Amino acid sequence: MFGIFIFYSVYLKLSSRCRIQVFRYVTDTPRHTVLPWGHLAFGYLVYSLGQRAVRRRPPTDLPTIALVVGTQLPDLVDKPLNWWFGVFDGRGAGHSLLVMGPCCLLVYLLARRYGYGRLAGGFVTGVLTHLFSDAWLPILAGDIQIGAPYLLWPLLPAPTYEKDSLLDHAVALEGSLRSLPWDSPVALLSTWFGAQLGIMLLLVSLWVYDGVPGLRVVTGGVRTLRTRV
Ligand SMILES: [Zn+2]
Repeated sequence: MFGIFIFYSVYLKLSSRCRIQVFRYVTDTPRHTVLPWGHLAFGYLVYSLGQRAVRRRPPTDLPTIALVVGTQLPDLVDKPLNWWFGVFDGRGAGHSLLVMGPCCLLVYLLARRYGYGRLAGGFVTGVLTHLFSDAWLPILAGDIQIGAPYLLWPLLPAPTYEKDSLLDHAVALEGSLRSLPWDSPVALLSTWFGAQLGIMLLLVSLWVYDGVPGLRVVTGGVRTLRTRV
């Protein structure tokens, strides 16, 4: 952890000049939206490559299911809090490293004690990749205080957004889907939405190449349910 902090400080020092140009649009776009499948795709890419690098084998079934849950958990915590209880504005405790970090550590230590360390590894990878994919621009720009203050909630106040209800999300998604250049695949892939679709395609290819880990658990669960109905 301390090593990551040192590395990040050195990175910010070295990149202080060029990041002003490269990430200028971060200040113009204080929040970019990563869709659920974008989180899933990025999380699976990191996990699969990590498993191959460390264990020299593709991900297995149950840790992959835990990864999927982890990739969605920060939004599953903060979005309902916002939509149904008016707490935070879509990114708060569930997106805070100061909250999720200790929770993940606790989950991992407990799981490892009872022999489920690999399961917890998938879950923790999912949560951390979600936080990074929401905040990668401000993190790389060294602009956490303005671009991603939720990462350090409650030390920094959780951000407020003008509109963030479930209906606002649906309307914004519908508007952005209408405005996409569907007639040109190249132009489509150059948009943020298209880039996430591209990553999703990459994910599906990698997942099939890995032997569709997790699918057996889902189909097995459905079969069991059917036999009990
Ligand atoms: Zn999120």
